[in-house]
Amino acid sequence: MENNSFTSRILHTPFEKNDVYRSLSMPVYHTAAYEFGTAEEMEAAFCGRTNDHAYSRITNPTVQHFEDLIRSVTDAGSVTALNSGMAAISNVLMTLAYSGANIVTSSHLFGNTYSLLYNTLAAFGVETRFCDLTTVDEVEKNIDENTCAVFLEVITNPQLEVADLKALSYVCRTKGVPLVADTTVVPFTIFKARNFGIDIEVISSTKYISGGATSLGGLILDYQTFDCKRSFKLASLFQDWGNKAFTCKLRKEIHRNLGAYMTPQVAYMQTLGLETLEVRFDRMAKTCFELAKRLKFHSDIENVNYTGLEENVFYKISYSQFGKYPGAMLTFDLASREACFRFMNNLKLIRRATNLFDNKTLAIHPASTIFGGFTEELRRKMDICDKTIRLSVGLENVDDLYRDIMQALQI
Ligand SMILES: *Cc1c(COP(=O)(O)O)cnc(C)c1O
Repeated sequence: MENNSFTSRILHTPFEKNDVYRSLSMPVYHTAAYEFGTAEEMEAAFCGRTNDHAYSRITNPTVQHFEDLIRSVTDAGSVTALNSGMAAISNVLMTLAYSGANIVTSSHLFGNTYSLLYNTLAAFGVETRFCDLTTVDEVEKNIDENTCAVFLEVITNPQLEVADLKALSYVCRTKGVPLVADTTVVPFTIFKARNFGIDIEVISSTKYISGGATSLGGLILDYQTFDCKRSFKLASLFQDWGNKAFTCKLRKEIHRNLGAYMTPQVAYMQTLGLETLEVRFDRMAKTCFELAKRLKFHSDIENVNYTGLEENVFYKISYSQFGKYPGAMLTFDLASREACFRFMNNLKLIRRATNLFDNKTLAIHPASTIFGGFTEELRRKMDICDKTIRLSVGLENVDDLYRDIMQALQI
């Protein structure tokens, strides 16, 4: 298995235990609890001396198989599957943060992540320091002895800003702070987070992985590269667990207490999604790149933003981190908010919907929807522009998509 490529591994990684009926796909173990033969076996499982399943809020065979598949195609030391991307982010930050701690990040964040930091965690005495993550000095200045994490999105949505991960990782290592990255917009088929010094990766598996927007899901990948003795929350676990202390705190306390573990039905669907991820991403990203190249010549489009375009300000760093096809999302600016609404209403093939990386191409006007509940001042701070359309490119033929965009601009 070691030498096999991504899709071969996903298709052929064996189950932990043979299925009694020799089922070819992992069965959906729809059960809340598991029975034990003896009180001794039960004690051993509950005290963590064996890996037997006890209760599906904690572990489940179908979900574990999904986690094992992801571990087999990444260098992650541990993988934890949750019921949404937001659950994954909340679990990570709850594992690291404490009252009096601070988190260093950018104001260019997914809307709910911003709100989690700005509203939810702030109420528990966790401060968030929003700064420019593309300026390493600024990040360094914001880190102090109470910084429990540096958090970022590898390509921000919808600004499409790209920070230098290796440079940030160097600062984080020096300061003893874990680098936590949301990599939802670039799948692990093309982006190896560990090679860029990311200690903990979070992914909304609702997007590329679910395979056609079938279900919500979130993943936490711990590369076990963070020196856990330097964390206030994890230092006491370090002696017994070493750099597995983060995973230990997460799996033995936080995720059990928050109760957002992935359900077996979802794990089954997302396992199927993983089987086609490489093929789908390849097509979506190539179509996205092709559309970006064609759209930039249109006179009604003021600006096309895709970090794979050579003239993009982040092209070089994006290419070095994500290669030629940095995701299947692009944005473009029209003359005004009214022009954006007209364009949206004229679409015939492309769907008006939120979400990313469905098989169907989706368009949204972020300022009036995802960020519609934010004040104008906050939108300005987050660089959310009123003239921007976001496109998540799906599996349709590129000419069909281009034709729909052209007709929607003309009317
Ligand atoms: C969608 C998304 C999330 C949240 O994921 P859910 O599965 O909707 O909870 C977080 N970060 C990014 C970058 C996303 O696109």
